[in-house]
Amino acid sequence: MLIVKMGLMKAGKSKDVIETYKPMKDIYYKAGIAIGIFVYKPYDERKWVDIESRAFDNKIERVYNLANIKSASEVLEIFEFCHMVFIDEVQFAPLEHLNAIIEYAKTHDVFCYGLEKDYLSKPFESTWKLITMGAYFLDDYNVIRLEADCDYCGDLAEHNIRLTDDENLFVVEKEIYKTVCDKCKIEIDELRKPLENDEIEKEKSTWNQ
Ligand SMILES: [Zn+2]
Repeated sequence: MLIVKMGLMKAGKSKDVIETYKPMKDIYYKAGIAIGIFVYKPYDERKWVDIESRAFDNKIERVYNLANIKSASEVLEIFEFCHMVFIDEVQFAPLEHLNAIIEYAKTHDVFCYGLEKDYLSKPFESTWKLITMGAYFLDDYNVIRLEADCDYCGDLAEHNIRLTDDENLFVVEKEIYKTVCDKCKIEIDELRKPLENDEIEKEKSTWNQ
């Protein structure tokens, strides 16, 4: 069985991973059965990393980083020790790993969590490919969209945006990433639109007066 839970940033994915994983781990632990929990952190060379849920009592879970595993067969070897697996940040999974996930899901339960798109609204290839492969290859398969509220008006969010294009630029709000609805995104894009050439000229002429 494969369950893919996807959404925007701040849709509560880490909270969901920990809330779903924890009780299962506790039940199976009594019987000496391992539930695997994994993450993809491609820019982290460590084997073990922490995932954290800010919304869930700041719960932290130490998880195995699959990003540094090369082949799909090695991934399957690691999964073999587990009764079921949870995988966070699956949007960063290398495409060849998706075969291993699908293969394992034919005989075991797999919960995958991933971002649907980046802050430029570009879809994450691995998340969408996993969904397609799940629908095509698996009988027992489900995809759930975790919803997020717009940071500005509270409506259903459809995008993540980044409030600056410049890493060094000072941003008034502490959080650079925002979760926004279609309407608020249009307003913000309009406000952040670079000045057209003739507008710059107009500005310049007012400065020179
Ligand atoms: Zn909004």
